[in-house]
Amino acid sequence: MSNKKTFFVTNLLNWGETVERDLPWKSTKNPYKIWLSEIILQQTRVAQGRPYYLKFIEKYPTVFEMANASEDEIMGLWKGLGYYSRARNMHATSKIIATQHDGLFPNDFKTILNLKGIGHYTASAILSFSFNAPFAVLDGNVIRVLSRYFGITQAVDSTEILKKLQALASELLPKGMSAIYNQAMMDFGATFCTPKSPNCSDCVFQDKCTAFKKSLVSEIPFKAKKIKKVERFFHFLVIKNEKMILMQKRSEKDIWQGLFQLPLIEVKKKPSSPLKLDFLKDTIFSKATDVQFIEKLTQTLTHQKINGYFWDSNLDINDFPETDFVCIDYEQLKKIGLPRIIDLFLSKNLLSLK
Ligand code: SF4
Repeated sequence: MSNKKTFFVTNLLNWGETVERDLPWKSTKNPYKIWLSEIILQQTRVAQGRPYYLKFIEKYPTVFEMANASEDEIMGLWKGLGYYSRARNMHATSKIIATQHDGLFPNDFKTILNLKGIGHYTASAILSFSFNAPFAVLDGNVIRVLSRYFGITQAVDSTEILKKLQALASELLPKGMSAIYNQAMMDFGATFCTPKSPNCSDCVFQDKCTAFKKSLVSEIPFKAKKIKKVERFFHFLVIKNEKMILMQKRSEKDIWQGLFQLPLIEVKKKPSSPLKLDFLKDTIFSKATDVQFIEKLTQTLTHQKINGYFWDSNLDINDFPETDFVCIDYEQLKKIGLPRIIDLFLSKNLLSLK
């Protein structure tokens, strides 16, 4: 291995020894708990994910309890974390582990990779942290650290460069030290070599970091693809009485699958200003005579921007088929999985609407 690579590994391991590990999933080798923490942390900051991890472990101490839970219960507990497909996949995987693997997490890379919601990174993290198996993790943090230190200026979102980075990460992995090395690497990327303000002036790699020496830190990692967002326009109706509110469960293959929303009418075009009620025409809500606009909220997802228009109506909650809608009492609303935009609207407005 070159001097530059040896320098990196040695200094990273030394740096790793100085880091405090007071996070609950760092003191365990239990693959179920490590898997759970990795799924929660996939799109979530540590501070936000920690209470969710504790809640899930308390409610489902083993994979069997999670497998036996209902989807609504899992979604309710996940509420507020976003990216609900993670929760759905996690639940599906818990059932597979409980029924096909006797509740024991597999320790073979290919088998783990076949489980829902587990990609190359998560499989490597589970295997290295639980079994100290020789798999190098490569997530956004690791990509940033490696591409800056080694001065990789090509687009890191190309398959070719990703393959090179994975090979580099595997080459650097010191024998018999996968768990502590991977942990140090992720901690370093998350806390030191951060995206916007890396702490270069105190960095142990400063002498040999190519991005630092060539003043390229803000340009690396470089990404070629820009994600194009689709805009969608949702009119949501509040239909309620003093005890309950009408909701519908999203079941189609689309965003927010399995979550509950207010009755929705989606329109193709951006509503004109001032807003008109023409979206109600030819829908089962067309009988509404008194419909008042409350507010507009937006939610940005990875590939979509959701524009939500919220309306209060005088429709009777009992006039809608049970096959499509469900009446939920206000207490129960706190326990079910809701898209963030709905959750935000209800927490802001429910008291005044009741
Ligand atoms: S010197 Fe700066 S850019 Fe280079 S590894 Fe350290 S923190 Fe990252």
